[in-house]
Amino acid sequence: IERTLSIIKPDAVAKNVIGQIYTRFEQAGLKIVAARMTQLSREQAEGFYAAHKERGFFKDLVDFMVSGPVMIQTLEGENAVLKHRDLMGATDPKKAEKGTIRADFADSIDANAVHGSDAVEAAKVEIAYFFPELK
Ligand code: ATP
Ligand code: MG
Repeated sequence: IERTLSIIKPDAVAKNVIGQIYTRFEQAGLKIVAARMTQLSREQAEGFYAAHKERGFFKDLVDFMVSGPVMIQTLEGENAVLKHRDLMGATDPKKAEKGTIRADFADSIDANAVHGSDAVEAAKVEIAYFFPELK
């Protein structure tokens, strides 16, 4: 059974749609096995997105991720990583398929509502980053 890391980003938390997003996870058969609401420090956000450090959008990305509370969860289920990416839709909401979380709740490529691990190995690292206690 597979796990993935999900973050409901500050824009979606501010829009009051945590419940609607959770319902999509549950209806797709993804189980929430750990969850925490928190406001990320710059250090936490930079560490989490370290792979993007050299990209031009890195500072904007970090600024956005620390701009308000986020809801972080570990999801578990069959093919959790891919299933969750499918539910999320494309990074740029203008390109996201109808019915995906980003098509329905995201405003821009910066404020794009959700994060999801992009591979099983990345998921392991990301889950350990936020939920070191999770067995
Ligand atoms: P996330 O990692 O947040 O789930 P993603 O995997 O779909 O998103 P990544 O390529 O990992 O996309 O980029 C991380 C985040 O950086 C994106 O969610 C987006 O907000 C921002 N980003 C990515 N590409 C661009 C870009 N070309 N211009 C501006 N921001 C971008
Ligand atoms: Mg990514």
